[in-house]
Amino acid sequence: MQDFIKNLSKLAKDKHNENKKFFAKLKNKPPKNLDYVMQELHDAEFKKTDCLECANCCKTTGPLFTDKDIERIAKHFRMKTQQFITKYLSIDEDNDYVLQSVPCTFLGADNYCSIYEVRPKACREFPHTDRKKFQQISNLTLKNVEMCPAAFNIVEEMKKRIKV
Ligand code: SF4
Ligand code: SF4
Repeated sequence: MQDFIKNLSKLAKDKHNENKKFFAKLKNKPPKNLDYVMQELHDAEFKKTDCLECANCCKTTGPLFTDKDIERIAKHFRMKTQQFITKYLSIDEDNDYVLQSVPCTFLGADNYCSIYEVRPKACREFPHTDRKKFQQISNLTLKNVEMCPAAFNIVEEMKKRIKV
């Protein structure tokens, strides 16, 4: 897994044009059963991929924090929301709340998330490969395959399984 993660950025760059063309065609004419296929590919990949051996998303990018995320996590720490924001968050160029630094402050040395039960929605949903109308997030997916080995594998399987 560690070798795969180390080489992932290059592997994804090599596949970038091919993936971009595939997603452009997919967006144009998504198959009727796309949601079903994506759920199958997502489940199969995460049966063999153990995120605890990876945590590359938590190490290299941070999630956006919604107001609901902030309220829930601040409550978990028995902090006021403003205290939580001041201690852990900053505002990015799109005006969204993000972590002050990566790797994520809440990631342990054992790759466990110390706020797993209350983690941000974006963390729960990452890498979004089981979301409905997957063709609509192709730009995000093109970025995610550079950092998430599971997303990379899922896109490779998509190209084998879905004829566009
Ligand atoms: S979601 Fe992807 S990048 Fe994050 S830990 Fe799992 S396999 Fe690694
Ligand atoms: S909150 Fe938890 S799941 Fe989300 S990036 Fe931080 S360590 Fe990872």
